[in-house]
Amino acid sequence: MSLHISAAPVLEPRTLAEALDLRASHPEAMPLAGGTDVMVYLEGGVIDPPRFLNLWGIAELGGLSRTGDALRIGALVTHTDVVRSPDAQALAPALVEACRTVGAVQIQNRGTIGGNVVNASPAGDTLPVLLALDAEFELHSAARGQRRVPAAQFWQGYRRMDLAPDELLVAVHVPAPSPGDRTFFRKVGTRQAQSISKVVLGARVRLDAATGTVTEARIAYGSVAATPVRCPATEAALIGRRRGDLAAAADTVATEIRPIDDVRSTAEYRLAVAVRVLRGWLAAV
Ligand SMILES: Cc1cc2nc3c(=O)[nH]c(=O)nc-3n(C[C@H](O)[C@H](O)[C@H](O)COP(=O)(O)OP(=O)(O)OC[C@H]3O[C@@H](n4cnc5c(N)ncnc54)[C@H](O)[C@@H]3O)c2cc1C
Repeated sequence: MSLHISAAPVLEPRTLAEALDLRASHPEAMPLAGGTDVMVYLEGGVIDPPRFLNLWGIAELGGLSRTGDALRIGALVTHTDVVRSPDAQALAPALVEACRTVGAVQIQNRGTIGGNVVNASPAGDTLPVLLALDAEFELHSAARGQRRVPAAQFWQGYRRMDLAPDELLVAVHVPAPSPGDRTFFRKVGTRQAQSISKVVLGARVRLDAATGTVTEARIAYGSVAATPVRCPATEAALIGRRRGDLAAAADTVATEIRPIDDVRSTAEYRLAVAVRVLRGWLAAV
């Protein structure tokens, strides 16, 4: 069956191998997952690709399961699938919270985790959490097989990422938490649903069981730069601090993020909220 969106033809692979072959032979074809970003760009005249590569329904791109010590989330897994997954609730509750805030139910039912990652919006809600959880992205190409890229190295500039023109994102791998891990997600927007983030925070600290001191920290924000960003100085300021004495480290954030003014918010508001939300969580860890 051939499907048409706009005037552009749609390639319809049935397997991952077919999709990768088509990706290599038609690098101009835009991958299409749930289409919740693509349709908006198309409608707004932002994109006009000569053809699409429809990924929807390819079994190898689906599935959410626990494999060994990690969660494997197929690229086509929807936000609703993540929210409803007992494995995701157990191993990655902060990611579940992020998926719960994407758009509203209709968007969550159709929008995929892979689409969120590759759309690479600085305001994408799952991105800071995937950074905080040290997720890895499994990328495949017909010519070179598969490779894994840590989230920390994937987004390289405004909507620019470590993804070759012949590659597809196949899965997201999220390591299982250690017993001492505490994780957090918070989105600050204008309203509860259908709200693009003004500031979005994904965070994780690992506490030593005996001493209650922080041995590892990941602090990541979205909507404050051209890409989702980690805050290494704040993370360093947390290492060695004891539970109950963490909140002051949040002030370091003000030295390492430089949000901008735009239609959704002001730089001043974003910075104040970024510090405040982190401080509030650290005080409660
Ligand atoms: C009304 C509305 C509200 C929204 N609210 C939010 C929100 O609150 N938070 C938020 O983060 N996002 C939001 N979005 C954006 C969007 O829903 C999400 O980014 C969603 O996860 C995109 O997934 P998708 O499957 O629809 O991606 P698509 O639109 O199909 O694709 C997005 C991009 O990723 C590429 N792509 C998709 N899958 C792959 C793959 N496996 N390999 C390689 N490239 C791929 C496509 O080529 C395209 O460039 C909203 C969108 C709408 C329309």
